[in-house]
Amino acid sequence: MIMRKDYHTHTFRCQHAQGEVRDYAAVAVQKGLQVLGVTDHTPFPTPLTNERWNQIRMSLSQLDSYEKAITEARQAYPQLTILKGMECEYIPDFLPFYREELLAKRQFDYLIAGNHFFLCKDRWLGAHSHIKTGEELLAYAEHLIKAMASGLFAIIAHPDLFGNSYEGWDKHTIRCSKMILEAAAEYQIPLELNAYGLRKPLKDTTAGARPPYPLSPFWELAATVKGLTVVANSDAHHPADVGATEEVEEMIERYGLQRADLSALERAPLSTNPRY
Ligand SMILES: [Zn+2]
Ligand SMILES: [Zn+2]
Repeated sequence: MIMRKDYHTHTFRCQHAQGEVRDYAAVAVQKGLQVLGVTDHTPFPTPLTNERWNQIRMSLSQLDSYEKAITEARQAYPQLTILKGMECEYIPDFLPFYREELLAKRQFDYLIAGNHFFLCKDRWLGAHSHIKTGEELLAYAEHLIKAMASGLFAIIAHPDLFGNSYEGWDKHTIRCSKMILEAAAEYQIPLELNAYGLRKPLKDTTAGARPPYPLSPFWELAATVKGLTVVANSDAHHPADVGATEEVEEMIERYGLQRADLSALERAPLSTNPRY
């Protein structure tokens, strides 16, 4: 039997997605998935820090209801393994919150690193729109690698998000991609082919229209890096998109990439893993 799993989905709480956990679970069951990972955008540790970056995440006060929604969906759909996760920005100051509050105290099953912001010369830049130069690309790659090195994350979400703002494929993207891919292999952390990028409008570039991400040349290069593993996720922001990973699965086949085995997430909360 082919196991179908989706480790990256959201809820209405992040303010730019729709639906409650049970709505995502219903679609997962209907589509025959065995595992649904719920990974909404994490709140930041204090109300003040949560003001940062335009309220594109749940508030701290919603953490309890998020957990409760996951528990209720588990009860409603016992045939489905529902994992309690969170998508986190790599922000050094917030690592104790991720480690102590989410993983240790609240027993989250796993965290994924979704870096939508990165540090470039002591300034925070948005990865969606502010990567235009080789220098910014390098800073983005270095930031992502620090997230890997922290050991807190089970998956690196959309590592090729830079394609949303950096148009071309050149020596800078090749260098940055190699750095990311080689670090992921070294840290043994799976990289995600994110299907959300394929549901977004195509981006016009001088070389023609293409999806903002996943970036084909990035994954073509990934196939040459020994020991690298990947995972296909929907990043569903709407219940209907749960498990919609056919096209990224097809990319995995096309480039001959190696799928990660994430079944350990299903057995024990990562917070009990000595690695943390
Ligand atoms: Zn989102
Ligand atoms: Zn996401």
